[in-house]
Amino acid sequence: MTDAPRSAELYRRASELLPGGVSSPVRAFRAVGGVPRFIERGRGPRIIDADGREYIDYVLSWGALPHGHAHPAVVAAISAQAARGTTFGAPTELEIRLAAVITSAMPAVEMIRFVSSGTEAAMSALRLARAATGRRRVVKFAGNYHGHADPFLVQAGSGVATLALPDSPGVTPGSVADTLVAPWGDLEAVEALFRRDGADVAAVIVEPVAGNMGLVLPQPGFLPGLRRVTSAHGALLIFDEVMTGFRVGWGGAQARFGVAPDLTCLGKVIGGGLPLAAYGGRRELMQRIAPAGDVYQAGTLSGNPLAVAAGLATLAELAAPGIYERLADRAGTLARGFAAAAGEAGIPLQSSAVGGMWGFFFGGAVTDYASARAADTERYARFFHAMLAAGVYLAPSQFEAAFVSTVHGPDEIDATLAALPRALAAN
Ligand SMILES: *Cc1c(COP(=O)(O)O)cnc(C)c1O
Repeated sequence: MTDAPRSAELYRRASELLPGGVSSPVRAFRAVGGVPRFIERGRGPRIIDADGREYIDYVLSWGALPHGHAHPAVVAAISAQAARGTTFGAPTELEIRLAAVITSAMPAVEMIRFVSSGTEAAMSALRLARAATGRRRVVKFAGNYHGHADPFLVQAGSGVATLALPDSPGVTPGSVADTLVAPWGDLEAVEALFRRDGADVAAVIVEPVAGNMGLVLPQPGFLPGLRRVTSAHGALLIFDEVMTGFRVGWGGAQARFGVAPDLTCLGKVIGGGLPLAAYGGRRELMQRIAPAGDVYQAGTLSGNPLAVAAGLATLAELAAPGIYERLADRAGTLARGFAAAAGEAGIPLQSSAVGGMWGFFFGGAVTDYASARAADTERYARFFHAMLAAGVYLAPSQFEAAFVSTVHGPDEIDATLAALPRALAAN
């Protein structure tokens, strides 16, 4: 029994040809059960599935679409570039323009290398950090996700959290032997790791705002503390801002919390919905990247003109005055509305918002991965399906953040909040 017969049929066919019927795990609805909706098109804040049902979209391609679907300025930029050619394997002026926008928004990013995915950005930043320090170890945090490169597949968030895989087969002990894991938010644990292994640590990599175990904001002192400890021990601080960059504010989390990392990873928003990511940082570090320096890293489609054009159009729209205030206002309204409705229904729910990101957990306060994992995932699954039936598309997992776009207006917010009492009652 399903109210999505066409999606169910597509899912059956997809599952014969694609592992789990999808191209990336969380899309398969495993954490919430049921049939993943196959999406036919998107328009502004809404998506329409293969059965012709419309949903208000709070996934927004996992945060990559700050202006919703098929924004006219982004479509125009992509179309214009497509007509001139989609890829050359040669440099274009577009890359200089996007690099100039990003480096002016993020003073800690003096030079930048474009790649095609956040995974590539994080693995390349780690390679550079190891080269620059001559050290091999990396400290990551439980529940933080840095893409699927081997060294990071230890207590990772996102789909790994959803599927409760502590690790993945195929990742050799050797490739994670140099990865040290600390509880996110726990500065003392990091200090203890540095007391023991500090001389071997090339870098600490962190999601400055955690978005891949659900949304969790940093406690005051955590990020400045990481800056202090890494500097004291000659290690680099890498902010993985693939999700938070141009999402929690124009300059990302580093501007918002006033902490300058040595290296920054970007993705999602900077590609405006096309495959684009980047890593960047201090000039003398980035000068180590080939061909300026000796650290090899390359990509056939890196800096792809279509993706860069989409990114430029997306960032140009985000640069308008008052945009982040508007995003924060809407994300905050949703977070507060969810908490209020749950309170009225007598259901424990914690919510938070920062910039255009928001999120909620069923259960008690969440400050780290351990407390996130204590959230009521069964209640989340029931609630998710009730909201889906009401035309609201939330992430199909408790351990993901939610997003808003500049085209989510009062109509969408009101309709979403209006659906809550019934969806929570069904719980
Ligand atoms: C999404 C994400 C990644 C991985 O990016 P992909 O483009 O999916 O490879 C890495 N780090 C963070 C913080 C992310 O949110």
